Amino acid sequence: MPRRIFILGAGASHEIFGLPLIENFVEEAVQKIECKIDLLNNEIHNTHKNTLKISPREEAFRLRKIVERVNHPFKDISGYVPFRLSQPFEELMSDIELSLDSNFSAGENAEIKYKLQELRTNLIELIQEVLRMTAITSEQIGRLNGLFGVLINEDVVITTNYDVGFECYVKHKDKDNVWGDLLGLSDAAIRKDDDDFANEYLSEGGLVKLHGSLNWTSCSSPKCAKYKQIDIVDIGKCLSSSRPPSVCGACGFPKEPVIVPPVINKQFERWPKFGLLWRKAAEELRKGGDLIIFGFSASPMDLHMRWLLQRLEREKVTVIDPSFETRDRIFSLFPIRKPARIGQSERHIWYSSLDEYIAKSRSEPSGL
Ligand SMILES: [Zn+2]
Repeated sequence: MPRRIFILGAGASHEIFGLPLIENFVEEAVQKIECKIDLLNNEIHNTHKNTLKISPREEAFRLRKIVERVNHPFKDISGYVPFRLSQPFEELMSDIELSLDSNFSAGENAEIKYKLQELRTNLIELIQEVLRMTAITSEQIGRLNGLFGVLINEDVVITTNYDVGFECYVKHKDKDNVWGDLLGLSDAAIRKDDDDFANEYLSEGGLVKLHGSLNWTSCSSPKCAKYKQIDIVDIGKCLSSSRPPSVCGACGFPKEPVIVPPVINKQFERWPKFGLLWRKAAEELRKGGDLIIFGFSASPMDLHMRWLLQRLEREKVTVIDPSFETRDRIFSLFPIRKPARIGQSERHIWYSSLDEYIAKSRSEPSGL
């Protein structure tokens, strides 16, 4: 079997885990949490049904606070910033980063800067909570098996989304594939400034998270030695309802999430490690192999990723996405022929859903 390079975007998280789409993320996430609060309120009146370790009342209170922590800082700064919570999530995160990078430094502006940082952290908390509510089920494991089949050492998974679904999947399957080791290597390459690890990471397959991860954190104080360093929080801790340690062990400043919006601005200066990640992605793509792009929109904002893909010539590209526009946008990045539906002979293939891809891979296990 040839090596495969999977590129996963927000659409993959939506199809596999039911996570809200990037387009109306905040609204959908809040709705999901509101539904859970309603369920808990029902439980409060039917205490015999209580399956939680803590009381439904406490849990509902905790969830309500998460929603408020997104809405309140935003109300305070909405007159000063040019964006809205209803914007697509990636645009929202990009706008927050760009605003933080630009002109908020002194006096009243310092207060706005603080609120912006608070909003960014609280939006990440919102994502984590939604992810926690969509714990991996056997059905999802089945769909991931259908996507990845047997992962071999040479396969590479490049993600532009922030969730930890793939890591949870590999940990779940740890005993019967090689990917547990590769995941460990990827984590070590992020944590350590070690040439040997970096070189081994570049030469082996593995996971490349180009836009950061929900379980990556960093010290927020520019004066701290750990400001440019990325720490990885254990996935179990990241997804537990008690929040992970949120202060830096070196200086006591709050830790902040390492999430990079598509408009990469100063993040390479802040976290030089992203240089290694992008080098890894470029090298793996250059080595060749079948490209399977799932739920990645190749948005015009995603300049770096489009640049990476545009330089390639590919014999075979598979796109899994319900959108014709996305399909055409991705195929236009490659100097190729027209997209083909299943069963046609051209080499670039489009599937409108993961189920369609899985059905095909079951009928032709070696042909995909
Ligand atoms: Zn620190």
